[in-house]
Amino acid sequence: MKTREARHVAILAAALFAAAGCARVSEPQTEIVPEPGATFDLAAAEVVDLSHAYGDDTLYWPTSPSKFELEVLSHGVTEGGFFYSANSISTPEHGGTHLDAPIHFAEGRWTAEQIPLDRLIGPAVVIDISAQAAADPDYRLGGEDLFDWEVEHGLVPEGSIVLLRTGWSQRWPDALAYLGDDTPGDASNLHFPAYGEEATRTLVEQRRVAVLGVDTASIDHGPSTDFIVHQVANGANVAGLEMIGAGRVQGEQQERPRPLGGVTCRFRLGGAAAEREGRDHGAQHGTEHPAAHRQRRRHC
Ligand SMILES: [Zn+2]
Repeated sequence: MKTREARHVAILAAALFAAAGCARVSEPQTEIVPEPGATFDLAAAEVVDLSHAYGDDTLYWPTSPSKFELEVLSHGVTEGGFFYSANSISTPEHGGTHLDAPIHFAEGRWTAEQIPLDRLIGPAVVIDISAQAAADPDYRLGGEDLFDWEVEHGLVPEGSIVLLRTGWSQRWPDALAYLGDDTPGDASNLHFPAYGEEATRTLVEQRRVAVLGVDTASIDHGPSTDFIVHQVANGANVAGLEMIGAGRVQGEQQERPRPLGGVTCRFRLGGAAAEREGRDHGAQHGTEHPAAHRQRRRHC
């Protein structure tokens, strides 16, 4: 019996603009991860679009020299009697729902087209810090937050795509509300939540996730000046996904948060992996990670 969570599939964007100098079409992001080489049964899935549409109101990193520009090259019936539509688009890399290729903060790491596609398809792990962020707009996902999540849901699986939900997507496209400051060209007074360093190191170095996503402008929180989350993640060839939307199911007009969370028995954390992760985390906390114990007990 599939869990409700397991039926949700997240399509992250119709077209994510990558941070490596080229555009690429995103692959579906899903939390249904069978054995390598197996196929997804999308008939049993709820497909969710997590992108913000590009347009005149698309938000960009404040120092971006320009915004989204669309020029209609053709739209109408041609002399040949058939309809023809084509546009020209121009956009800086870091605006709208987009991918940060690892080279963004790590010289020599993957550019967008070098990222293996199987790194862009994986279990969607949603960690919700919207309550903390509502109280503190500069909130960062802490190591304890991650620990608590794993106690409840199980270990974050290797190769997963972590989606940090802060609730900020509801502020889109209000620049002042979303970024904390709407001064053009100035990124020195930003306020929004994101990942913290300890949680990032655990996710990247121990859980070996593939992607860190967030519904704010950056995987580093607004006041960051050293961008340590970018440095740690990109340095390990972990891509970022930024400015993610709240989710829209086909046919829905209004975005609303989707219950994408839940890493339960859908994943084969093979015995060795679960044992290893449990040991790693246990060593950190001086005891076996309860989630690791539960994973093994359920033989997920
Ligand atoms: Zn970016």
